[in-house]
Amino acid sequence: MSSAGVTVVGAGMSGAACAAELVRAGVEVRVVDRGRAPGGRMASPTLHDRRVDTGAGYFTVRDSGFQAVVDDWHDRGLTRPWTDTFGVLSPDGPPSTKSGPTRWATDGGLRSLVRDVLGDIPVETASLDALPAGHVVVAMPDPQAARLAEVPDPVEYEPVIAVVVGFDGRPDLPFDHAAFVNDHPDVAFLADDGSRRGDDAPVLVVHTTPDRARQHLDDPDAVIVPVVDALRRLLGTGDPAWTHAHRWTFAKPAAQHDVSCHVAVDGDRVVGLAGDQWCPEGAPRVESAWRSGVDLAAALLPRL
Ligand SMILES: Cc1cc2nc3c(=O)[nH]c(=O)nc-3n(C[C@H](O)[C@H](O)[C@H](O)COP(=O)(O)OP(=O)(O)OC[C@H]3O[C@@H](n4cnc5c(N)ncnc54)[C@H](O)[C@@H]3O)c2cc1C
Repeated sequence: MSSAGVTVVGAGMSGAACAAELVRAGVEVRVVDRGRAPGGRMASPTLHDRRVDTGAGYFTVRDSGFQAVVDDWHDRGLTRPWTDTFGVLSPDGPPSTKSGPTRWATDGGLRSLVRDVLGDIPVETASLDALPAGHVVVAMPDPQAARLAEVPDPVEYEPVIAVVVGFDGRPDLPFDHAAFVNDHPDVAFLADDGSRRGDDAPVLVVHTTPDRARQHLDDPDAVIVPVVDALRRLLGTGDPAWTHAHRWTFAKPAAQHDVSCHVAVDGDRVVGLAGDQWCPEGAPRVESAWRSGVDLAAALLPRL
C-alpha cells in the first residue's frame, strides 16, 4: 500500500474524529463535506440571532476514550453537564420525570465540538457523487455512503423533522430542560433550547415522530402547523413569534452494525466506512460516531 494521504468524506463527528487521529499520526488528510459548515447532524445554525441545536440535542458519555475528550472540553469551558432528568409527557396522562445518564450541552452549540475536534484541519465544501482517487474514508449514514461506496448490509435510517419554535417571552412549561413525549402521533421529544444553551431564550426545539416526518419529507415546512397545534395541547403555549423546520431524512439508524467501522481494500487503495451506525454497543449517538471515527483511523494506519 502507498503512504499517500486520505480523503475523508463527511465532516460530522465520525469523519472529524477519524481525520484528527490520522493527522496526529502524520498522515496527510483532505476533508470534504457538502454542508456549508462541518458538524453534520450536530448542527447549530444561527436562527434569530442565536445558535440553535437543530440536530443532536445533547450527548452522553459512556465510552472511556470519549470521556477523556469530554473532560478536556469541560476543562476548556466548551461543554457542561446539562441534566440527568427529563420530563415525560403524554397526550392523556399527567407529566412525570425520568432520570438517566448525564446529558451534556454546550453554550456554543454542539457543532462547536466538531470544529474543536477538527482543530486546524480545513474542510472543503463539495458534494461528491463518486469516490475520489486514493485512500478514502466515507463517514456518513449508510444510505448516503452507499451512493459512493459498497456498504455491507447497509442499515436504514429513520427521519425526523426538527421544528424550532420561538416565543416572545419564556412560556410556562410543564417540564424542566427537555421532555420525551409518549404515545403522540406527531411529537417525540421537546427541548428547552434556552435551558440547554444556558441563555434562557424562549426557544423550543421539537423533534417529530418518524411517521409524521415521513409525511413531510418533500415539504418540511408543512409540519409546522400540526406541531404548533400539538404544543398548544401538550404545553398550553400560544402563538409562536417565529418557527423554522429542518428535515433530517437520515436522522437515526434503525439498526446497527456489530463492528465499529469497516475497511475494504479496493485495488491499491483502502476505503473505510465510519459513522454512528457502526455501533456494536447498540445505541447509535454522538459518542458512537466519535468511537467509530477513532477506531477506523486505528484500523487504517497499518494499511496506509
Ligand atoms: C434530530 C436528531 C436528534 C439527535 N439527538 C441526539 C442526541 O440527543 N444525542 C446523541 O448522542 N445523538 C443524537 N443524534 C445523533 C447524532 O447527531 C449522530 O449520532 C452523530 O452526529 C452522527 O455523526 P456522523 O459523523 O456519524 O454522521 P453525520 O453527522 O451525519 O455526518 C455525515 C456528514 O457527511 C456529509 N455528507 C453526506 N453525503 C456527502 C457527500 N456525498 N459528499 C460530501 N459530504 C457528504 C454530510 O453533510 C455530513 O456532514 C441526533 C440526530 C438527529 C438528526
